[in-house]
Amino acid sequence: MTGERKVGRGVAGDDLYGRLRAYEGRAAAIGGVGKDPVNEPMIRHWCEAMGDANAAYPAIAPPTMLQVWTMGGLSGHAGGSARSEAYDELLDLLDGAGCTSVVATDCEQEYLRPLRPGDRITFDAVIESVSSRKTTKLGSGHFVTTRMDIRAGGELVGRHRFRILKYAPARGASVGKDRPTEAKEARRPRPVINRDNEGFWAGVAEHRLLIQRCTGCGTLRFPWLPGCGACGCQEWETVEASGAGTVFSYVVMHHPPFPAFDPPYAVGLIELVEGVRMISNITGVPYDKVRIGMPVELEFLRVDADLELPVFRGAVA
Ligand SMILES: [Zn+2]
Repeated sequence: MTGERKVGRGVAGDDLYGRLRAYEGRAAAIGGVGKDPVNEPMIRHWCEAMGDANAAYPAIAPPTMLQVWTMGGLSGHAGGSARSEAYDELLDLLDGAGCTSVVATDCEQEYLRPLRPGDRITFDAVIESVSSRKTTKLGSGHFVTTRMDIRAGGELVGRHRFRILKYAPARGASVGKDRPTEAKEARRPRPVINRDNEGFWAGVAEHRLLIQRCTGCGTLRFPWLPGCGACGCQEWETVEASGAGTVFSYVVMHHPPFPAFDPPYAVGLIELVEGVRMISNITGVPYDKVRIGMPVELEFLRVDADLELPVFRGAVA
């Protein structure tokens, strides 16, 4: 917590919080202009990526695309960023107080009317609130909420609230590591096991890869979910995967490095013969020999004393 020094001297955090709160109500982005008008190709690509076949699109844009129309892409906005000096100052103030890390925590959107191809987008954002100092598992810091007002042809069409936590990392804290006493040992992150997926992990413990099958309509689903995406039925049974599949797609991870992983390595989207797909590691094949369509076979990898994972062994043709 070395950053606390700057705000030390007795009143400490209160003084910082007062200075942070002075930014509430000030602009976070001014005079933003959408890079492209709302357009059918982007709507179509989004719907394909999301698997959203709603017949209302692309005559209107999916409401959840709201933020898309404000984004500058990898090359940024032609006229530069709309981000305000006040927002940069706020972030600098937090950096100076030791809150040098940032994580996006949540967003909320409000939709006032559907966007249609041809709509021209402008936007402004305001620093809506800065929280008092909060302590989280990641570290202690302040939540900063910005609200972006999005307009089409000057008419307000939606609002996008975005919240970040600017924080000073807790000593030894690292995402996916929940046992500080073992911080030195590089451990793979633990799966989050809950009522909705405990049956899957019980299957793994018996070296069985279980797929959910809706008892209402028979649709297979993976990963495990409480209800059927096809018919909404909440009753289900399981079928055991044969273990055969193919590489439907894959990425090779080079960066960022993560404890317990040794890049580069291949992460595959495996299509099981039963028809569902799952993400897993591909073993037995060098990362640069993995190919789409490659046959793979389920095996179980003992990672450490507490963790065993279903992975897929590739076969080079
Ligand atoms: Zn169903």
